[in-house]
Amino acid sequence: MHQFDTVIVGSGGAGLYAALEAGKHSKTAVLSKLYPIRSHTGAAQGGISAALGNVEEDQPEWHAFDTVKGGDYLVDQQAAKILTEEAVQAIYDLENRGLPFNRTAEGRIDQRRFGGHTRNFGEAPVKRACYAADRTGHMILQTLYQQCIKHKVAFYDEFQVVDLVMDGDTCQGLVAVALATGDLHIFAAKAVLFATGGFGRMFKITSNAYANTGDGPAVCARRGIPLEDMEFFQFHPTGIKGLGILISEAVRGEGGILRNRDGERFMERYSPTLLDLAPRDIVARAILTEVRAGKGIRGDGKIDDYVHLDASHLGKKTLASKLPDITGFCKTYLGVDPANAPIPVLPTAHYAMGGIPTDVQGRVVRDDKGTIVNGLYAAGECACVSVHGANRLGTNSLLDLVVFGRRAGQHIGSYVQQAAAPAIGPDAAEFARGWIARLTDGQAGPHGGRIMEKMQTTMMAKVGIYRNAADMQDAVDAVQALRAQYRDVRVQDTGRRFNTDLLEIIELRNLLDLSLITAAAALNRQESRGAHSREDFTGRDDDNWLKHSLAYLEGDSVRIDYKPVDTSIWPPKPRTY
Ligand SMILES: Cc1cc2nc3c(=O)[nH]c(=O)nc-3n(C[C@H](O)[C@H](O)[C@H](O)COP(=O)(O)OP(=O)(O)OC[C@H]3O[C@@H](n4cnc5c(N)ncnc54)[C@H](O)[C@@H]3O)c2cc1C
Repeated sequence: MHQFDTVIVGSGGAGLYAALEAGKHSKTAVLSKLYPIRSHTGAAQGGISAALGNVEEDQPEWHAFDTVKGGDYLVDQQAAKILTEEAVQAIYDLENRGLPFNRTAEGRIDQRRFGGHTRNFGEAPVKRACYAADRTGHMILQTLYQQCIKHKVAFYDEFQVVDLVMDGDTCQGLVAVALATGDLHIFAAKAVLFATGGFGRMFKITSNAYANTGDGPAVCARRGIPLEDMEFFQFHPTGIKGLGILISEAVRGEGGILRNRDGERFMERYSPTLLDLAPRDIVARAILTEVRAGKGIRGDGKIDDYVHLDASHLGKKTLASKLPDITGFCKTYLGVDPANAPIPVLPTAHYAMGGIPTDVQGRVVRDDKGTIVNGLYAAGECACVSVHGANRLGTNSLLDLVVFGRRAGQHIGSYVQQAAAPAIGPDAAEFARGWIARLTDGQAGPHGGRIMEKMQTTMMAKVGIYRNAADMQDAVDAVQALRAQYRDVRVQDTGRRFNTDLLEIIELRNLLDLSLITAAAALNRQESRGAHSREDFTGRDDDNWLKHSLAYLEGDSVRIDYKPVDTSIWPPKPRTY
């Protein structure tokens, strides 16, 4: 048993920023199933957006508009306003804390182009992404971790959270397994913040790390908290063909061009104004449409055909100074030097727009009326504020971590001053103990690996970029069947120390629950909007579907409710680029 004021789950950008703020006013611990600087934030490449206007004229209002339009008007607009207005100070805070951004010749923070970010409400691309070569996330993570160490935040590394402790509508702490010993630990806390990141591992081809299994959202879902807008999952246009490893949008931001088998710059046909820098949903669909039409590089129309991303004209010097890691990935995984040859790419599952619903203070809400779950917060990719709506713009996620991680941390700092210390006993771990005991009881059962494989191929094939009712119904049925099989799964390794087999099987359950919710929410939404693109309902339908979905996991089924979208600044318009 441990007692803290504040417990933060996750040491990516969102968790660490929240910890820095909450730690000023409360006894704070950070739990992370990974060693902190291995969090996926460290893999972020391209940049973090803010309308600094260092290189070209820019304004937060333009940034907010782009975010709303990029999200196909499912964005809560006051939240987007906060995101983009607080962005500027957030970048200078990171700089003051030691982040080594790339600089202009005058010594200012340099900025580059990214998809969907424009000047003057859509006129032309604008340079808005601040960056540290193609290691921006790595630098954010290192900077924040060093600051947390300096400010004496307590870290529990390699602790995997498996359950929340709730008393009615109030969160009182959580339960975690310590990887090194296999022991269960109960953390009593006045406030808990989930910052557990994304869940791209639902899909076969993904840019996401192995640890991105959606543990926070899944734990919440099993405790009766709905998940918001789960049908919206972003496919990044440019993953390395067959592997899914990300080739940052920064390559196109620096001038890289997508070409089909005829060498044609096909984005001219899909997005005459922004071309290769259109929002990701549009570019990913364009690639798939080219491939299906037999214009992929092989030209056979098969789903695994690909297109080329040509960066050879950027020259060795730019590639070395601005895209060194990407250059290295291409050499290592493809044997291709992007200075000499085009990069073979295909869309890869990348980012969860949906997640745990929160208000702009990071407080988790449990229904359409905004009822707060006392003491429970979420921030970062696992949360849904919602600033990304139906499709996130590149560089807005790192920004979301910093802005809303900080806001949540600040709110926690004041909340814990007046909240009562929870009194919980060892029975709080009952559910987790029972689950683990069953998984390790030594009986024979199916292996989790095969269930994982089937889940990932199903989600990739049936709930991918283009969707239709029959496929999504198949996916719901298949995932239900896999969840039934999971009941008999047993871990092969029944030891206690460093039992990664056990922890992976716990993660598998999280992914199965989130896959079911995603497929069910996608089947339910009968329109096309942002990343959710239906062959059987091709248009956006604001009359019936301009609303957020709230999906409740109830036993083996998913119940869907709705809540309104805040469109208080810009009334929805058709989306052209
Ligand atoms: C390859 C790649 C490149 C990207 N590039 C960019 C970019 O250039 N710009 C941009 O804006 N966005 C980018 N993104 C998106 C962005 O990086 C992520 O959305 C963001 O970093 C997520 O941060 P986070 O703090 O929410 O979670 P993460 O950084 O994913 O951290 C999650 C944390 O939660 C912990 N955790 C998870 N489950 C548990 C559990 N059960 N118990 C205990 N701890 C747990 C993990 O240990 C980890 O510390 C990129 C993403 C990828 C995958």
